[in-house]
Amino acid sequence: MKVPRIQILPPELVGKIAAGEVVERPASVVKELVENALDAGASRIVVELEQGGRELIRVVDDGCGIFREDLPLVFARHATSKLSREDDLNHIRSLGFRGEALAALGSVAWVRIQSRTAQESIGGQLVCDGGQLGTVAPWAGAVGTCVEVRRLFFNTPARRKFLRSVSTELAYILETVQRLALAFLGVHFRLTHEEREVLEVPGSWDRYQRVQHLFGEAIADRLLPVETATASVRVHGWIGHPEEARSSGRCQYFFVNQRYIRDRMLTHAVQEAFRGYLMVGRQPIVFLFVELPAEAVDVNVHPMKIEVRFRDQQLVYQTVLHGVREALRQLRGESAQAVRGWVSVPAAAAAPRLNDGDAVGPDVVAPGVPSASRQERPSQFTESASPAVVPVSLPCANPTGKPSATGPSVADLASRKPPTGQEQTEVRAEVASISPPSSRLSNQRSFFGTESPWRAMQLHNTYLVVEMPDGLLLVDQHALHERILYEQFREQLQAGTPARQNLLVPEPVDLTAAQAALVLEHAPALEKVALSLSEFGGSTVLVHAVPACWKRSAAELVHIVAEYLAEVARVPEPQVLLDELLKRMACRAAIKAGDPLTPEDIAFLLEHRSLVENAHHCPHGRPTALFLSKHELERQFRRLG
Ligand code: ADP
Ligand code: MG
Repeated sequence: MKVPRIQILPPELVGKIAAGEVVERPASVVKELVENALDAGASRIVVELEQGGRELIRVVDDGCGIFREDLPLVFARHATSKLSREDDLNHIRSLGFRGEALAALGSVAWVRIQSRTAQESIGGQLVCDGGQLGTVAPWAGAVGTCVEVRRLFFNTPARRKFLRSVSTELAYILETVQRLALAFLGVHFRLTHEEREVLEVPGSWDRYQRVQHLFGEAIADRLLPVETATASVRVHGWIGHPEEARSSGRCQYFFVNQRYIRDRMLTHAVQEAFRGYLMVGRQPIVFLFVELPAEAVDVNVHPMKIEVRFRDQQLVYQTVLHGVREALRQLRGESAQAVRGWVSVPAAAAAPRLNDGDAVGPDVVAPGVPSASRQERPSQFTESASPAVVPVSLPCANPTGKPSATGPSVADLASRKPPTGQEQTEVRAEVASISPPSSRLSNQRSFFGTESPWRAMQLHNTYLVVEMPDGLLLVDQHALHERILYEQFREQLQAGTPARQNLLVPEPVDLTAAQAALVLEHAPALEKVALSLSEFGGSTVLVHAVPACWKRSAAELVHIVAEYLAEVARVPEPQVLLDELLKRMACRAAIKAGDPLTPEDIAFLLEHRSLVENAHHCPHGRPTALFLSKHELERQFRRLG
């Protein structure tokens, strides 16, 4: 083979190669420019976009500005005002330090920078067009800097082709700005797309208000605060309630000294702390801020500065682990979870515990739940002094679908513990309305295939124990109801296409800016599953139709969809998408663990169990019921020789 000769690359090519590392897509441009504005001490940053950033990204700040005569240096490689000596690398306090971003950007786009410092009466402006540097001209703007980037990747077609749709790029940009807005309190962020406002975060908002606005009330309401520190590391922020965990780690935000980073060690520490609190495959929501001396962390390990290295990894790991564990301890007293705004009577109040060492007093209230309602909720069965077993007659071949007249009547059962106020009736009404027994259902034989009355009881407001002729059945009430609803939803689909239910008046649904962008991007795919929505302005979408099987609010469905879309990298085929959504709809509509059930509810659940083709697993693949045979019981208690 002919030996190739080695040569030094021309500077333009070097620039393009370097740009490849830093500038991946419009969102990386926004990140670099906003970081520069933050480093310049800006208190107000406006990002304006056209075509998802493809055609225009303009970032305007009120920071310190750049001296006119320094302007050409901005586009030079390895030119920065943030480092001067080698030692500076050991304690970087700014977001930037590599002096590469603008040089890189200038070689793959048309970039104009306009700036003025407080010391100058007239500022300057300079254009760099695909690596061609212009000359500095005067500029009479306010103190601060405006950087405008047009025609991104015009001279690197491979990169330009790689860009995705406008809404996808916009979603990436939003994510970028959100991360910065979470870290930099006191700074006002504003983002517009095609002159319409996408996001606005006032400087006066504290961190919690920011989370609330960016991620929605539902997430913010159930956050558990984290706050812990050692001599040199402080970890603070929030973790999500275990029940709010997601199927992906996309809602995990880690910051180290105000820098959003990805770090396996931190993720692992959180996972470890959550061990035992989450179902398999679930990822908690995390907003954690790690603060430590600049010397204790090396930020110079990744071109996009999204990874760092800790000098004392163990210490950081342990501090995070401890902080998150402490936060989760707040849940220990929460014997029953907050359910749709209600809270069960704490176990400690219902009955004294044998081991009360870890019990948290009744002053611990799930976040977002008014403490006044805490004591009010009746615990239907557990509080009664009489035996806690409620006989439920299962009306197998009973055409009325009501418990058989030979067993104790529903009224009898209910009168054992009359409702103390409205709560009970409401809970009951809700459960009943979720899935009214249809006539078709009541005509079928029950799973149990016999008319004799069974005895069943609810335990921990979560499980049903059912006496069977040959053993006992333990049923997860949520999993079973979820399965029933899922099957019902599926039954209502004719030939795989869901029936549409057009709303008489289109319903506006408020989302977070990121959710709105995501949902609108996938509007065509959602249309195929009978969810029809369009843009309304801001972060509100307008819902025109929902699948006919969905009996709850359009807003709730759109939130489920937005959550799902945020978790998947790619939207699947309509059939798979529909099935995924049905599972989530069923999960949302089903009674929850912690919901007290009436005897009718219990009968209803057990009765409908027969109609579920595959009742052994809920749609998520968890078992709905466990069976313990009489034989096994006898064996365990050594009744069998
Ligand atoms: P770095 O941020 O790593 O220093 P950049 O290429 O992003 O490198 O920017 C080069 C220099 O240009 C910065 O060090 C800073 O002095 C100046 N600069 C860039 N943007 C701004 C801005 N918005 N306000 C003030 N100075 C800026
Ligand atoms: Mg920079």
